[in-house]
Amino acid sequence: MPITIFSHPSCYYHENGVDHPECPERLSAINDQLIRSGMEYVVMQRDASPATKEALYLAHGKRYVDELFAKAPTEGHIWLDPDTIMGPKSLNAALHAAGSGINAVDQVMKGSNEQAFCAVRPPGHHATREQAMGFCLLNNIAIAAEHALNTYQLSRIAIVDFDVHHGNGTEDIFQHEPRVLFCSSFEHPLYPYTGADSSNEHIINLPLAGGCRSGAWREQVQQHWLPAIDAFAPQLILISAGFDGHAEDEMAHFMLREEDYQWIASELKQLADKHCQGRIVAMLEGGYALSALGRSVVAFLKGLL
Ligand SMILES: [Zn+2]
Repeated sequence: MPITIFSHPSCYYHENGVDHPECPERLSAINDQLIRSGMEYVVMQRDASPATKEALYLAHGKRYVDELFAKAPTEGHIWLDPDTIMGPKSLNAALHAAGSGINAVDQVMKGSNEQAFCAVRPPGHHATREQAMGFCLLNNIAIAAEHALNTYQLSRIAIVDFDVHHGNGTEDIFQHEPRVLFCSSFEHPLYPYTGADSSNEHIINLPLAGGCRSGAWREQVQQHWLPAIDAFAPQLILISAGFDGHAEDEMAHFMLREEDYQWIASELKQLADKHCQGRIVAMLEGGYALSALGRSVVAFLKGLL
């Protein structure tokens, strides 16, 4: 089966303001590279549906969700935290971003040897159970994981987060949930300045210094993540796919290349083939150097094939 790419036009309409790195052009850059690479012929593109409030309540506090709906502006914008803006189109975009993960989980759970990639924004992995932060309104990957745990009664989900920033929101939501193995690699110290010492038996954080190159990053992943995921025998692998660790991305100081994203996709695909009939759902997180982002997503998808 081909890889399914879920997205939605509403994800283009969430605006962070002029010259903001988390911009709609990120999705266009991915689309452009999909076309240029010929990959669009081997992927299936589908529109996402919006998440329901009930689905959000599984990962976020009811009060947080209800307040987010209540304060969504009809004009102008409001700040949810010093980095996170909400405008008139933001909630709809966030609901479709979260909904894409639910659609993708349904798709891979009902099929066999299915993979899905959600090309959506706003991203999600910094949103904690009770707080929007770091460009993230709703924690898309956590909502997808909760949907999988609840709808398909799974008992083992691995979430791999290779964004250059710590997936603090995802860790916050699953810190007491042993059914979820959470693996996050990130530059340290760097925003949000968490995760360096919060690992436990089901949270495997890899805080790495700025300047980290392909070899060192792969060595850490090979040593700490791959054997742990293999031993955990996940029934589903979810990926917070952030591409801001690319050498050309000025948001941070890792020196990864698109080949590294292809490599980790292929390593995770082998584990998914071994343990869960190839079931993988990846969701876009960061990645702000537009050309590198498009190339990295294409390389990542090639790794899944
Ligand atoms: Zn990031």
